[in-house]
Order: sequence, then C-alpha cells, then structure tokens
Amino acid sequence: MKWRTVLEALEARLAELARGGIQTLNVASDPELVQLLAGFPAGERAAPAAEAPADPGSPPAPPRAPPVPEIPQAEPAGLADRASPLDSGGSAATFQAKHPSELQTLESLHFHFRDCQRCALAGSRTKLVFGVGHDRPRLMFVGEGPGQEEDRQGLPFVGRAGALLTAGILALGLTREDVYIANMVKCRPPGNRNPAPEETAACFPILSRQMELLDPALIVTLGNVPLKALNPSARGITAERGRVFEYRQWPVLPTFHPAYLLRNANAIDSWWLDLKQAFRVAYGSGG
Ligand code: SF4
Repeated sequence: MKWRTVLEALEARLAELARGGIQTLNVASDPELVQLLAGFPAGERAAPAAEAPADPGSPPAPPRAPPVPEIPQAEPAGLADRASPLDSGGSAATFQAKHPSELQTLESLHFHFRDCQRCALAGSRTKLVFGVGHDRPRLMFVGEGPGQEEDRQGLPFVGRAGALLTAGILALGLTREDVYIANMVKCRPPGNRNPAPEETAACFPILSRQMELLDPALIVTLGNVPLKALNPSARGITAERGRVFEYRQWPVLPTFHPAYLLRNANAIDSWWLDLKQAFRVAYGSGG
C-alpha cells in the first residue's frame, strides 16, 4: 500500500524534525518525499483535463496567482475610517447587500476580520488563520479549525495533518498554490477540540464569503465539522465520504480529515479514492 509507505515516511521525517525542535514539514521541498509521491501518478493519478497538468510525469502547471498568506497591512482602498459591520454581528450576505463595493476581494475580507471578536476563540488565538492558496481555484479544501502549529504560523494545514494533506495534493499533480485551503473556524479551539456550534456559526460568514469570492469548481470538506455545517442532515463522515452533494451552487465532496488518517491508516485508501474523485470533478476529467 503506497499511502502507508508515504504515511510512514511522513511520520519518520516529522519525528526527525521534532527531535530538532521543528514541528512542520514542507512536503513539497523534501526530496525524498517528493520522489516517493512521484511514483503515484503512474496508474494511480486521475487523468488530467484541460486545466490540469498535462503530463503525469511533468511538474504541475504554475499557479495563476500567488497565495494570500498574510493579513493585509493597509486598509484596502475605499474602506478607510469605517468600522466593520461584520465585526458587530452582521452576516456576510447582509453586509454585501449594504456595501456591494466592499468585501470584493480576499484581501478586504481578511482585513475586515483581522481582529475579529465574534466568538470566544478570539481570546485564545495567537494568529487568525484566514486561508491560503489560489484566488480562483478549482479545488477548495475546508477543514475544521487551526491546530497548534497553524495557530503559531497563521497558515492552515502546516502541522502533521497538513503534511499528509499536502502529500495528497502533490500526488494529484497539483500544489498547495493551485488549490485553496481554509477552515470552518479561523481561530484555534483550545486543546484542539472541535469548534462548538456557536463558534462555527459565528465564523461562517467569513467562510461563506470566501466561497463566493473563490467560486471553486468543487469544495472538499475534511472531517465531520464542515460536512455537518454544509449538510446538517448528513450522517457521519464514514457513511458520507465520497458522496457528492450540493451546497448553494457548489458541489461538495466530503472525505476524512487528515488528522483522522494519522490515527487510522486503514482509511487512507478511501481518502485517496476521494481525492482522485475530487480531481476528476474539479477538472472535468473522465479518468
Ligand atoms: S473563530 Fe471566526 S468568528 Fe471566532 S473570533 Fe475567530 S475569526 Fe472571529
């Protein structure tokens, strides 16, 4: 099982780094892991479509725009001297209706929420983890909430689970810059617990507006929290994984959270099937 090999390689490398005091692994820049993942496309990768990388053996196409990893340092044009109505409890849709010229970019959305106090998670965060990746992605991944390393760096999926998600993205022939990665809540729940329903609800306008601005071809939810948020009648992730449903105008494909896979390696094959299905749906491939 190739994915078990990848998982073991990830774990070994992370353990090695942890002994040196480093908690993150940049999978894309790790030659051994990249070489290991390069073996995946031969017969396992979904067939590429027009906008997908053309050759399974070739590097992925360059991203269309740089990721948006940092909070904008200046007020976007037209927003100076205005308080954020969203910070006082309005929904993104309400705000958008009242101010159609605002929140039109990820940067302005990020800026508005840079000091968000809409829920109790504000009190325990180090950095708000807004999201990162392509500004017009075909694939958008939505996890549950930031973990310890994400909270420290302000970036989503950069810890152990993030290394596995990154490995899966690379195995599809894509990069993190080709997709968009976000979470249901933008601030770390203490102790890595699941976000509470009221926290998810408070944060949802941000995610909702991200979806509108990004307009992905497919949303991949990771774990139960985003699945239940977008499809409240869904059963658990084990029953629903791989079953595409609609949320507003977007198809959504639920699959396991990478953190679950770190504890349940037998689920990795199903996860990889889901990722390949996501690639086919997002890129219109019949492969
Ligand atoms: S989790 Fe979301 S709603 Fe809560 S404080 Fe952070 S950004 Fe605001």
